[in-house]
Amino acid sequence: MSAPETQPAAPRRRRTAPRVLVVMDVDGTLLLNGGAVREDFHRAFLEVTGVDISPVRVRFAGSTDRAIIREYIERGGIEGDYERIFDRVSERFCDLVEESYPDHPGPHLLPGARKLLEALHSHPEAGLVLGTGNLRRSCFSKLKRFGLEGYFPYGGGFGGDYENRADAIRAALAVGRAGYGWDKGEAWVIGDTPNDAFAAHEAGASALLVASGIVDRPALDDAGAEAVLDDLTDTARVLRILRLR
Ligand SMILES: [Mg+2]
Repeated sequence: MSAPETQPAAPRRRRTAPRVLVVMDVDGTLLLNGGAVREDFHRAFLEVTGVDISPVRVRFAGSTDRAIIREYIERGGIEGDYERIFDRVSERFCDLVEESYPDHPGPHLLPGARKLLEALHSHPEAGLVLGTGNLRRSCFSKLKRFGLEGYFPYGGGFGGDYENRADAIRAALAVGRAGYGWDKGEAWVIGDTPNDAFAAHEAGASALLVASGIVDRPALDDAGAEAVLDDLTDTARVLRILRLR
């Protein structure tokens, strides 16, 4: 495992609340897992339920881990109480991710991601939270591999807590209010799927989509987002879109 390049400082004490809250997706936006996580999902299911769900094709991108686990349970023909299975599978899954992710050859950081996080973290008018389909624990395992966890001191909204992505974004906005004192300003979701834009709009936020995940540019252009970019390499352009000069 390569050592993280930089560790951000703790957020500065602010005299005023940030004007713009940025809600950041993780998979396909900041990093790609390269197969690492799917293997762990399959193994967690097999160990907990005895069912091999690897032949069941479930789309991960833009979904939430709660919805993904429900789909595997239903389509894998697994019987039993959903919440109980969810708790056991998700706990085992997070254990496996914690073990495998630091040294798995698949994951890599996407171009521009670290530079953008640094720019947002140090911007006096920006607050930064997570808005992801991930379970909280597996999300932080991913961020820690690349030394990114310090950019999100207040956490955010997670798909292990909400099946509907818009609910995870609403939770992220609430974390922004409680953590940074952000209120009544602008909120932007940065994500890589049409679902990120739909969820942002449902929660009252704007959306910037980036074509660095598995969804190609034309599908993103049709999602109704306020802005679409090929990648996050042009930090100044991203800041302009977010109206952070
Ligand atoms: Mg994503």
